[in-house]
Amino acid sequence: MLSRLPEDSILQHHIRMIRRASRPRLGLTTSALVIATALVSAQTRITPPSNKYSPSEDVKLGQDAAREMRQQLPILRDDEITSYVEGLGRRLVNAIPPELQHPEFHYTFEVVNVRDINASALPGGPTFVNRGMIETAASEGEIAGVMAHELSHVALRHGTAQASKAGKYEIGSVLGQIAGAVIGGGWGQVVSGASQFGFGAAFLRFSRDFEKQADLEGTHIMAAAGYDPRDMANVFRRIEKEGGSGGPQWLSDHPNPGNRVEYIEQEAQQLRVTNPVRDTRAFAQAQAHLKGLPKAPTTEEAVKKGGGRPTGTSGRNAPRPSSSVEGPSKSYKTYNEGNQFEIAVPSNWREQPNNDRVTFAPDGAYSSGNFSHGIQAGITRNESHDLRKATDELIQSLSQGNNLSRPGGFERLTIGGRQALRTIVTNTNQDGSREGIEIFTAQMPNGNVFYALGVAPENTFDSYRSVFDRVTSSVRFLED
Ligand SMILES: [Zn+2]
Repeated sequence: MLSRLPEDSILQHHIRMIRRASRPRLGLTTSALVIATALVSAQTRITPPSNKYSPSEDVKLGQDAAREMRQQLPILRDDEITSYVEGLGRRLVNAIPPELQHPEFHYTFEVVNVRDINASALPGGPTFVNRGMIETAASEGEIAGVMAHELSHVALRHGTAQASKAGKYEIGSVLGQIAGAVIGGGWGQVVSGASQFGFGAAFLRFSRDFEKQADLEGTHIMAAAGYDPRDMANVFRRIEKEGGSGGPQWLSDHPNPGNRVEYIEQEAQQLRVTNPVRDTRAFAQAQAHLKGLPKAPTTEEAVKKGGGRPTGTSGRNAPRPSSSVEGPSKSYKTYNEGNQFEIAVPSNWREQPNNDRVTFAPDGAYSSGNFSHGIQAGITRNESHDLRKATDELIQSLSQGNNLSRPGGFERLTIGGRQALRTIVTNTNQDGSREGIEIFTAQMPNGNVFYALGVAPENTFDSYRSVFDRVTSSVRFLED
């Protein structure tokens, strides 16, 4: 598993300062009350973390991830609910302090018709709130609390900041995991699950210092928007209570940095709520309206059904049947992937970059990151420095939502001069058809792992294996 990102001491320093400054308020003497008044505006200052990406890159990446989310998840098309959430979101966005407003950003709000408690905001502004979040909130302030936290991640540009820290090849993975975090397990087709590889725990989450920043900035936004920031503490307390194993996905994406409720409440004491929201009839109406709609599925059920899209028997985005797919060409073409590696593939396979990975597939065999014939490759992080363990984790992540057979034996080889492993698994599609997947992994320096997944329908798999061998033996690493 990936190690945690280094703790950022800046924020903690601010928190310590506030703690010290606020201690006298605990007294009940007159002088303590005077100090309290003087401290009213002493909110924690939040400095956005350093970031190698431009705000317009946030926008581009966020839009790509949003598109993927809309494909995977059912969006609630209900004017009353959507305009309610939009109104709430707009109010919060207007309260983002000027120094964190990026003119490129465009905040949009959509409601996902699933009952799990979750919300997610993507870089540059696309924001998704689960119906379950609205249904279970005890007050409008609670929804505002979760949304203000999410919007703070966006305004502070945490997605790309995390990618900046993590290294050059990880940008897509961050987004893949953001989408994956909402989608959860259960990708319909085998190969699109690879983006979760190695991110199962730590990288799928924001670091603890980013979480703390989003909490604190979120309380500022809430107060400026007219909400009591203590409602953020309330909703997190409730989410934690419902947590535990299989608890709300929100918690595993936004881990408690420690003493979350306490520091939120402490920060809330420093804040003055301006123009407080008192009329929450719209909230009551929205909840009542949702009660009248057919019950929402869980995220997992929705994803299995194919999200908002009409589906065929083998799931959404299913490539066309194999009969229309041309066999691999005998001539090969070499590609340079992000100056990370070179790879040669049959010349009739098209290059399909998708965030952190690239897929090569013939016409008719690729759709939105899924493919029925071809090979997918990428470099990802897995700091176990144990290739067998990393490979097991890859298989584990692929088996989420797929019906994989247990792998056969592992064979040692080298790829690009690095120690490598290969093994074969079989996936049974929803329509009962089966496909073979040859999995290659190679240990890179610095905890990186190169992987390649060769996929072909079971009846042609054997003939494709020699192609996969030739492709992987062409791999040349360009760094280190
Ligand atoms: Zn968070």
